[in-house]
Amino acid sequence: MVLGQLGGSISRALQQMSNATIIDEKVLNDCLNEITRALLQADVQFKLVRDMQTNIKKIVNLDDLAAGHNKRRIIQQAIFNELCKMLDPGKPSFTPKKGKTSIVMFVGLQGSGKTTTCTKYAYYHQKKGWKPALVCADTFRAGAFDQLKQNATKAKIPFYGRGIGKLLGACKNARALLLEIGYGNAGKSYMESDPVKIAAEGVERFKKENCDLIIVDTSGRHKQEAALFEEMRQVSEATKPDLVIFVMDGSIGQAAFDQAQAFKKIVSVGAVIVTKMDGHAKGGGALSAVAATKSPVIFLGTGEHMDEFEVFDVKPFVSRLLGMGDWSGFMDKIHEVVPMDQQPELMQKLSEGHFTLRIMYEQFQNILKMGPMGQVLSMLPGFSAELMPKGHEKESQAKVKRYMTMMDSMTNEELDSTNPKLMNESRIMRIARGSGRQVRDVMEMLEEYKRLAKIWGKMKGLKIPKGGDMSAL
Ligand code: GDP
Repeated sequence: MVLGQLGGSISRALQQMSNATIIDEKVLNDCLNEITRALLQADVQFKLVRDMQTNIKKIVNLDDLAAGHNKRRIIQQAIFNELCKMLDPGKPSFTPKKGKTSIVMFVGLQGSGKTTTCTKYAYYHQKKGWKPALVCADTFRAGAFDQLKQNATKAKIPFYGRGIGKLLGACKNARALLLEIGYGNAGKSYMESDPVKIAAEGVERFKKENCDLIIVDTSGRHKQEAALFEEMRQVSEATKPDLVIFVMDGSIGQAAFDQAQAFKKIVSVGAVIVTKMDGHAKGGGALSAVAATKSPVIFLGTGEHMDEFEVFDVKPFVSRLLGMGDWSGFMDKIHEVVPMDQQPELMQKLSEGHFTLRIMYEQFQNILKMGPMGQVLSMLPGFSAELMPKGHEKESQAKVKRYMTMMDSMTNEELDSTNPKLMNESRIMRIARGSGRQVRDVMEMLEEYKRLAKIWGKMKGLKIPKGGDMSAL
């Protein structure tokens, strides 16, 4: 995804600033200009970017900073905070409570991924113990109901909508049940097409069924379609949602602000979900949608499948964007895949700041186990932008394996040393020969090790922050 590029550009700008011997006005301006350019290229609204730049300059007054102040850190912190501010409207969205009926209405443009996202949202909560149900009030788009029905049946989530007057519950054989209840032979009475009525009926039915999360999908619409907007308002009035979620396609770019605002004017949007973040979405539109609706992004859609859905947290997200790594995501993954007995040791090694080739080897092993490379690697500080550019997961995986083969030809002493100078020319040649690679491949791997060792070295004494807040670094 292009958001990875944004992250890469921003972290490069910060890196350039870090390489400068003295941080003066020019270095700061260059860095900010670079970040501004990157944000604009990622479709973030111009006004937001300009405000951010002004705010950072206000906070980082180089003249007032006494010598000895760590200017780099202060600048980095200010950039981190401003990006977080852009994505965090300051008030959390309504969160459904288990056991208490909540009604959540989904709105968004046609094709934004709204129907898909409704099911993902239901499925996510179902896995966490909620009793969700889906109501399809999209009578505008032919096939919307069938799509919802298909997804809901797969996830065993009850649903209600046009063309079917009966609730289908968690059923093993949906087809048999459809026949049993007369779907297909359904008379006209079942063919209700008033979306407001369908929505109200569905909600009523599921309230009686004691569902605690009733999700209402509405017709997709375009900003100009006044009639559909009126319909959306009426559905909202009839169902009285606790939360209205605006679903937007991550790739709509600069249009995001106006679109989101148009929806917000009609219904009280309280949260945003950005879809298709696995594709070519520049992602900057998400920041604009937050600004337009003053509502937080709560999830990201990262694929067409039901479980390709990620909780969105501002701080870890910005950490990743800045190439600082996402500790909370990383820690979750560690807990998931690193064997229990190895976890404390790894944490200990991290906090000691010593980084040996063996640790690198072990991390590569974990990385290969962890599954979708791009996802996991972007959480690791230093691993994201350079070693593992987004969109090149296959090549990255091959590279990691290549590095590991070379490390297999090393001695224990070499693997456990924190000083790669130990390896003289003849050793490097032996390692290359032993692994069937070129000397330059070994050199490249050692360079990578040095780069990572430098980053990991900064973690010495570090207490891994809770919630992935990297601003503490
Ligand atoms: P709606 O018109 O807003 O209800 O949109 P749909 O839910 O029908 O989705 C439109 C298309 O986008 C479908 O082909 C979905 O499979 C696809 N889609 C939805 N969410 C995602 C996502 O997060 N990633 C990708 N790659 N495709 C998605």
